[in-house]
Amino acid sequence: MHVTVRVPAKVNLQLAVGPLREDGYHDLVNVFHAVSLYDEVTAAEPGDPGDSGGPIRVMVRGEGAAEIPTDDGNLAVRAAQALARSAGRSYRADLVIDKAIPVAGGMAGGSADAAGALVACNELWGLGLPAEDLMEIAADIGSDVPFALLGGTAVGTGRGERLTPLETTGVFHWVFALADGGLSTPEVYGECDRLRAAAGHGTPQPVASEPLLAALREGDAEGLGRVLRNDLQPAALSLRPSLARTLRAGRELGSLGAIVSGSGPTCAFLAGSQAHATDLAAALTKETGICRSAVTAFGPVLPSEAVLHRTTAESSTRGRPCDADER
Ligand code: ATP
Repeated sequence: MHVTVRVPAKVNLQLAVGPLREDGYHDLVNVFHAVSLYDEVTAAEPGDPGDSGGPIRVMVRGEGAAEIPTDDGNLAVRAAQALARSAGRSYRADLVIDKAIPVAGGMAGGSADAAGALVACNELWGLGLPAEDLMEIAADIGSDVPFALLGGTAVGTGRGERLTPLETTGVFHWVFALADGGLSTPEVYGECDRLRAAAGHGTPQPVASEPLLAALREGDAEGLGRVLRNDLQPAALSLRPSLARTLRAGRELGSLGAIVSGSGPTCAFLAGSQAHATDLAAALTKETGICRSAVTAFGPVLPSEAVLHRTTAESSTRGRPCDADER
């Protein structure tokens, strides 16, 4: 039997970074938005139990695959191991990750893969754990993993792992300008702290932006474009100055809003329609030196829109939406 789960990338519509805490984390207000750029995670029973390797093995294909660890450092492997531990048994699985989400691109691809592994292995091993239990395991793996399970649009507080789903209207169209090479999230936070210390003024506690929440509720893309905000952006620009040109190009080409996605270096541009997004992506890739490539996507997307593809010796289902009962 094998189970395939499609997991979305995220963009942060607001990333408000509070003061550095004693535990090394920052208090955040993090408005997550899941978009239609997906990795696929397949979990299968190992073909040959006598094969070498640990009980959870992984193969990675596609976008940036060579940069991703295939040992216990892989977040999907860690997630499957944590799930097996919580079930108190030593389960085995072969994972295959088909990547489309840029690696170290500020779109939480590793967290998405971890969430995908939790859902796929829960199904493969017949554990039937409810969503709340998967959420708890997810929060231990990383701050962005719970949102990858939830999808849609949500505000995260604490380290970003305490989630409240947000009401939104309609669909928002995006262009993502992908860069060559990634940025390390811890380094970007470190640079943020350094820039703040050098500026010498205190950092306020983060609060959610009311105009941003209103624009989401009303489906107001123009209003949303005006209030996108990422406190990590100055740090990402400091570490990768070329991103200033990418953001400027998107603004000059008529995007409704331009922002570095999470810790970067992917830049996100809000468009007014699918056609506008397609034109913007084409214009960004036509100019040289702006980005490696540009992809369009829409949001918010829900995990219930994910493809769950399950094949057993007796049955085969494909392209069927996975509903809450299956999680
Ligand atoms: P975030 O937005 O959550 O800060 P990111 O999108 O910038 O993360 P990821 O693509 O999640 O970055 O990768 C971060 C690091 O995690 C990379 O250096 C990568 O090698 C490692 N990693 C471990 N497992 C995975 C995985 N399954 N997919 C991608 N990266 C992984």
